[in-house]
Amino acid sequence: MKPSEIPQLLAEIALADHRVRRTDPIELRAQIAMWAGILADVPYDAAVRYAHEHYTKSTWPILPADIATRWTAAVADRLGRHTGTFEPLAHPEVDPDDQYGDAYLAALKAERRAVATGHQPPNELRAITAGPAAEEVDKRLKQMGAYMPPAIKETLAEFRPDAVERERLIRSGLADPRSVPCPWAACRAPSGQRCRTNGRDRHDYHPTRIDAATAALRSAA
Ligand SMILES: [Zn+2]
Repeated sequence: MKPSEIPQLLAEIALADHRVRRTDPIELRAQIAMWAGILADVPYDAAVRYAHEHYTKSTWPILPADIATRWTAAVADRLGRHTGTFEPLAHPEVDPDDQYGDAYLAALKAERRAVATGHQPPNELRAITAGPAAEEVDKRLKQMGAYMPPAIKETLAEFRPDAVERERLIRSGLADPRSVPCPWAACRAPSGQRCRTNGRDRHDYHPTRIDAATAALRSAA
């Protein structure tokens, strides 16, 4: 919060506990400077909320550190639950073929910041694969059947990278991008083929194609 918001915060806290706000003008000025430094990262609304929480449980005067530590814990909790999975459909302005990826990095950073400050809920994609979807994966793997004893499959793994990749995707509950054609205008690779840039196979897939495959997988489930 801005230093200019501190007097209002102290006034609000003083409604619950008049001991907190200094009455001497010089001390009050020093107190405002001190609180402003400690609470620079904490939004005003969050600080008021933490003060309310403090006085529902405690009769001790609140310290700025009480507010700052709650905020730090809340940020760590949100970032801890955020898988950081980038959702390209939410950022149509980002060109996946961009040479330097500046727009992608900027979007990624902005998203992390929004999650840290609570402006955006954390993306807890892991919770989905850990839940009922995990059963679905097992079911699909059973339907596919194991054609090869695991030891032979391991030996052959380096000669069949595509199949290994596909199995990895299925095991982690992710869609195989090759199950759908690529919707990216400059690529339009048909189903079963890798994405291309200027006629050459890419090592990765266009994000819009991953999205399309994920959507197809979800609607099939
Ligand atoms: Zn593509």
